[in-house]
Parts: sequence; structure tokens; C-alpha cells
Amino acid sequence: MEKRPFVTLEQLQEIVKDYPTPFHLYDERGIRENAGRLRKAFAWNKGFKEYFAVKATPNPFILKILKEEGCGTDCSSLTELMMSDACGFCGTEIMFSSNDTPPEEFQLAHDLGAIINLDDFTHIRCLEETLGKLPETICCRYNPGGVFKISNDIMDNPGDAKYGMTTEQLFEAFKVLKAKGVKYFGIHAFLASNTVTNEYYPMLAKVLFEVAVKLQRETGADIRFINLSGGIGIPYSPDQEPNDIMAIGDGVRKVYEEVLVPAGMGDVALFTELGRFMLAPYGCLVTKAIHEKHTHKEYVGVDACAVNLMRPAVYGAYHHITVAGKEDKACDQVYDVVGSLCENCDKFAIDRKLPRIEKGDLLIIHDTGAHGFSMGYNYNGKLKSAELLLKEDGSVDMIRRAETPQDYFATFDFCDVMGKYGEQGERNP
Ligand SMILES: *Cc1c(COP(=O)(O)O)cnc(C)c1O
Repeated sequence: MEKRPFVTLEQLQEIVKDYPTPFHLYDERGIRENAGRLRKAFAWNKGFKEYFAVKATPNPFILKILKEEGCGTDCSSLTELMMSDACGFCGTEIMFSSNDTPPEEFQLAHDLGAIINLDDFTHIRCLEETLGKLPETICCRYNPGGVFKISNDIMDNPGDAKYGMTTEQLFEAFKVLKAKGVKYFGIHAFLASNTVTNEYYPMLAKVLFEVAVKLQRETGADIRFINLSGGIGIPYSPDQEPNDIMAIGDGVRKVYEEVLVPAGMGDVALFTELGRFMLAPYGCLVTKAIHEKHTHKEYVGVDACAVNLMRPAVYGAYHHITVAGKEDKACDQVYDVVGSLCENCDKFAIDRKLPRIEKGDLLIIHDTGAHGFSMGYNYNGKLKSAELLLKEDGSVDMIRRAETPQDYFATFDFCDVMGKYGEQGERNP
């Protein structure tokens, strides 16, 4: 499918008058419409709730939009819990799905009334020691091991993943938790990442629903919800067929009616913890071409680099690139599009067919709305960019300012670098 950016050259030319490149830009309308589609796809389930995976796009303005669309948050760390709290998410609107969890994070999750999702059997003891008493409701994360296949395609390798409890441990955990007075239970599993198929969720649902029925029969646990977690992917590349969320919702409903309803479990709520599906297509990284280089290959150098978006450098991930205003020009050039890090993996695209790029052109790197800005880092002393929100009325808000050199030096207590420089990084006389 052709990939068109959600922003035009004319809009970008206005935006760059106020905000220098590079920046991440998010599309409020796209986010809201997509959240609405997800709600609709699971409207058949009375307790359905999406807990947005905060790690994908940890920005309070984005969380607020999602809250208005009925979402909760899925947190994996202390600061994500703090941000959820500050954005007004409370109690069971917060899911705490973490692993290798420090005790103080369990404590804050509990203080906020969040649902705690235990990654391991030994965490029962840790949680009990931390809180003094186990909460009324607990979720356990399941990892059946092996490989996760759809037909003959291996989707992912849960047997190799550090997350979750084995089948045996899961049953034992439910028995122990019940004996210790836990009243309500949930089950969670995340078995494949970035799946671009309508089959993943229904297949995962079948695994979880069947284990839920067995758990209830064997332990008598009152299972209130099943958390299908993240993993619904997006078509990063134009040759991929996008997921059809209505078909996914319908596929899960069929399994629900096949497995849970006959077992008398037709009131179990379904939760999701989607990150990528909720945000990735509704964000892009806008960067300017600042150099061209003709050596053994043709290079275009841009003012963003892997610290702004590390997926291509780390995973070799494909991110589509559009040259703003040249959407309909022939892609008759072949470029490596590179950033300025002293790392040869700092390439947004390799051997990419693109229209001829001139210095000053604005490049739109697609699908950076999730696991984009949030994975950023400060290697080579590079500073993180701003995040901007394109609102439904077409105006633009800055929802996070760009880092300044002061921010970068703020954690040193060694020499007064900023005494020598002004706010904009200009050297004092
Ligand atoms: C990362 C993560 C998610 C979100 O994954 P996506 O691939 O972005 O949908 C959900 N739940 C947990 C526990 C995660 O670690």
C-alpha cells in the first residue's frame, strides 16, 4: 500500500519557521480515530480496556489524548508510573507489567492502586515482603515456551524470552496466591512482537483462554480479566498489508465464544497493552537534508541521527521515507540516508530509491510515533529533539522542548561547563 505522510510540505514549511528540525511530529486526529477503531473492534466485550504501553511514547500530552479515548496505561518503571499518576490515571486504570522489578516500583504501583502483573513466581514473595500483604487482585504473566507459530511461520520465540512463568509455575502461583488470600486474578502473555497478521491475537487468545479455563477448574481462582498485551504490528514497509483491527476483534470474539463462554466464563474482561499499533503510524521524524556526499556510494546527510530514532541502526528496521513535496516524483536515485554519529550503523536508509534530494529538502521518516523518540539516547553528546503535536484544527503545539546543552551537562557536578556558555550554547566572552 502506498504510504502517504499525514503532513504536507506547505504545513511543514510553516512549522519549521517556529521549530527547527529535527523533530517528531504526532497526528492527533490519526491517534483518536485509530483508538476509536480499537474500541469498536472490541465493543462486544463488556470490560474491554486498552492500557497504552507508556514506554512506546512517554509523553503526557499523548497520554491525555488516549485517556480521553478511554485508555489506561501500562507501565514498566517508576517514572512511567509517576507520569501516569500525574496525568490523572488512577487505580485500575494503570497496569504495572514490569520484569526484574525493583521493590520500590512494586510499592509505588500498589500505592497508586495499579493492577500488578507478576513476571515470575519468586515475585510473589518479593511483593509480599515489600507490601506486607498481597493486593486483592493480581495478574500473572504466562510464557508457554517453545516457538509461536502461525501455520508454518515462526512469529517469535517465547522459549528464548526472559518474560513470564512456565505453565507449571503459573498453576502453582495461582494456588499459592489464592491460599494467601488473593481474591481476583488476571492472566497476561506477550508472545510475538510487531505481528502484521490478523491471526496473532486470536491465536494468542486461544492459548490464554484455554489455560484460563484449566486454571479456574484446577485452582478455583476467580479470573476477572485476560490481558492480550502488545504485539499487534504495523506495516512499516509499503509492501505489507496492514492489520484489520475489526477482523482481529472478531477473531478474538469467536475464540471467546468457543472457549470461555461454554466454560461459564463469559464475563471475563479483555485487556490490551498496545503501544506500536496505537501510535507508530501517527508520528513521524522530520529532518532536513544538510549534506550530500559522493564517494563509493551516494549519501544524503540529514540533521537527525540514530539518537532520534534508533530502530534502523539497532534492528536494521525499515522506516519509509518521503521527501516532502516530492511525493509524486519518480524515485530514480539510490541513496544512503545517514546521520552524523561516529557509528556506521547510523543510517536511516540504505540503497533506498528516492527522488533527487537537494540540500534543504525536508525528509519525513514515517512510523516513528512509537518506540521512536522514546528509545532515544545521548551518544556522541547528541541532544534529543522536540516533540510536536499536529492538532485536529491544524495548529501545532510543542509537547516537549528539544534538549539544550544545559540539559546534557546537568548531571555533572564536576566542572562548570555552562558557566562558559549561554543558553543557546553561545560561548561567553
Ligand atoms: C512493550 C510492551 C508492550 C507494547 O508492545 P507493542 O509492541 O508496542 O504493542 C505491551 N506490554 C508489555 C509488557 C510490553 O513490554
